Amino acid sequence: MSVPTDHNIEAASVEAFLKAYREGVGKLLSSTSISELELSQRVASQFDNTASGIPLFAGFDASLDGAGLARIGFGLEKILYTHVSDIFHNFVAALSGDETPEEALSRLVRHTLKGDVAYFENLSRERSIPADRLAFFGNFLVRPIRQRARHVLESAYDLDQWHYSYCPVCGLWPQMARLEEEFGQRHLWCIGCTGQWSFPRMRCPFCLEDNQEKLGYLTVEGWEGYRIQTCDNCHHYLKTRDERQPEPKSVSDFDIEYLGTTVLDAAATREGYCNDFIGLTAFNAKDPPLSRTYRQKL
Ligand SMILES: [Zn+2]
Ligand SMILES: [Zn+2]
Repeated sequence: MSVPTDHNIEAASVEAFLKAYREGVGKLLSSTSISELELSQRVASQFDNTASGIPLFAGFDASLDGAGLARIGFGLEKILYTHVSDIFHNFVAALSGDETPEEALSRLVRHTLKGDVAYFENLSRERSIPADRLAFFGNFLVRPIRQRARHVLESAYDLDQWHYSYCPVCGLWPQMARLEEEFGQRHLWCIGCTGQWSFPRMRCPFCLEDNQEKLGYLTVEGWEGYRIQTCDNCHHYLKTRDERQPEPKSVSDFDIEYLGTTVLDAAATREGYCNDFIGLTAFNAKDPPLSRTYRQKL
């Protein structure tokens, strides 16, 4: 899911968006959505599944308290079109069609949490909104719920034991990575819950290719602190902050780097690599019809 805009977003805009998001949407949503008890029960009942690689939210049908959801959705729309891209202007109205914003947003939250690709594809057709844009909005809308779930899961399960390339909470594929300064160990980042986990550097996280002749990376002039890791088996790319490079000096902040490096997405796309996982999660990929859709996109 590349950032849905065709221009690079200025660093100041990214920071203004994140500040408004954390102070507004994040706080509002965590107080109105799924109860702590429901999340704890989910973690307890999923414990064996986590051990065998099934993400926490796989098949989770949340019972949502939708009160206030419209206000949150309009709030997110406003800060997205103000700071990220004007393509989000009137997004909630376009999403809602004949439904009320409350109904449309409740549905978006539930299907985003479930990682329901068919929902994104159908809605994209019905409403003429690119699926990437729906998924981008949906992921930021539900992030506070997933972040709470991650905290609950982390207190019950040692995530160092997690060896898969998709997120143990959301089931989403990684949207960015970083290479550690000292030993170059790779950490993957999830846009859903902002969690990180380590994964071997010499292996494609999307198709598990480990033939080194098929794995490579691109760099972009002026962006020496980043690599675009590529795979010539599945043709996907992963934006990666290389902390071994002298610049930029700051500690990785994945949100800032993900939103502020659309230059890298454009370069990867030009070279024929893609990042089209929309809402697709690893648990969909195990489902034959959906994994077929996934392969056809490659
Ligand atoms: Zn996640
Ligand atoms: Zn691959």
